[in-house]
Amino acid sequence: MSQKIRGVKGTRDVLPTETYVKDDDPWVRIAHYHLVEQAARDLFPLYGYREARTPVLERTELFVRGIGEVTDIVGKEMYTFDDHGDRVSMRPENTASLVRAYVEHNVSQLEPDTKWWYLGPMFRRERQQRGRYRQFTQIGIEAFGSAGPRVDAEQIELLDRWLRALGIPFEMHLNSLGDANCRPPYRAALQAYLRARVDDLCEECKKRIETNPIRVLDCKNPKCQEVAAGAPKLVLCDPCKAHFDGLQSILTALKVSFVLDAKLVRGLDYYTRTAYEAIATEGLGAQSTVAGGGRYDGLVRELGGGDVPGIGFAAGVERLALIVAQQGKERAVRPVLFIAPLGDAEAARADQLAQQLRAAGLAAEVSFRKSNPGNQLKRADALGARFALVLGDLELQTDRARLKELKTGAQHEVSLAGLLPALQKLLEESP
Ligand code: ATP
Ligand code: MG
Repeated sequence: MSQKIRGVKGTRDVLPTETYVKDDDPWVRIAHYHLVEQAARDLFPLYGYREARTPVLERTELFVRGIGEVTDIVGKEMYTFDDHGDRVSMRPENTASLVRAYVEHNVSQLEPDTKWWYLGPMFRRERQQRGRYRQFTQIGIEAFGSAGPRVDAEQIELLDRWLRALGIPFEMHLNSLGDANCRPPYRAALQAYLRARVDDLCEECKKRIETNPIRVLDCKNPKCQEVAAGAPKLVLCDPCKAHFDGLQSILTALKVSFVLDAKLVRGLDYYTRTAYEAIATEGLGAQSTVAGGGRYDGLVRELGGGDVPGIGFAAGVERLALIVAQQGKERAVRPVLFIAPLGDAEAARADQLAQQLRAAGLAAEVSFRKSNPGNQLKRADALGARFALVLGDLELQTDRARLKELKTGAQHEVSLAGLLPALQKLLEESP
């Protein structure tokens, strides 16, 4: 026998049944992902968001310009390689790619406002922890074209509704990062303050003083948090203040709750004004941010497009799936009927019956194995089937059979010819 090959560190298999998997979070299954994803698919179009899919591979340059060389993501977490002379990277997030597509296809010439949503795998070479992986899934939205606070409020309300529909306990944190007018003097004041406290900062933040001082406010190290607590506060210029006040009053009118959080930052220069984060209040421990968003009015220009404002959020599907899994919620298709034929003639009839049920939209499963009825019923139970039907010679001859309801043990006498309507009636009576 050859040696087994294991999956890559930081990646995980999401499989249909928890009994397959032994890892730190064995209970997260595909049915939990489906619950999270389907809720987004159903909800986001109600707000006018349409799905966009871009490639996993992009030119490295896109992320260097679109996220920034000084960030952890681009500085040390990207999977980058040489593709016959081109530097390409696996996307660590989707915003830069969507902006690239928006600019490349001249979308701003075609419509004044554009709203896209996306879902897919992202890649960052991070240290694996619960809720932190090297391949993970994000669902997000981006809106291009509108500079006013109404679109910000609409996104935050959408995120709020989605998370509530999923039953996630969370708080919506909100901040304004100012703009090219009020942030530079603040950045300088912050830098001066941090230089004076340099000995109290972690090694990473010592470097950030010069490259990305605002990110120090967001460092998880307790020493840095203490320094951050005493840092000077951003004073918004009048237009930024009007935007932020406007956003808060729209959210209040829409009855969306939020908490103001001056420590909430995004580290890049083209992030402007609104920043928001949904933070889970139970169920995740250290990796508790389930979604992060913000306004990036300078990004489209930075990537070669016009002066088009934009705003978006990205949510971590694994973290959301962990919470819904702990709550015992999932979205799974289970067989309505499991048919166990005992011989070859019965198998042919079973296949026909299953075909008929599936054509009518009912999930049906046939056994491919010859084994005794007791084992067959165990298999039906393991699959989560609602009913089971054992087909033997007698059933075939008489066209009569007994449908067994697995949970209750109740038996229903049916004719094989009338199986579909009989099942439909039972499902209607108690869905
Ligand atoms: P964090 O502070 O948790 O590292 P971040 O600021 O790097 O988050 P974003 O880049 O804004 O996160 O991504 C948005 C969301 O994507 C996060 O709030 C989180 O839910 C999820 N996410 C980010 N990185 C990972 C990862 N390595 N594994 C799983 N989910 C992730
Ligand atoms: Mg991160």
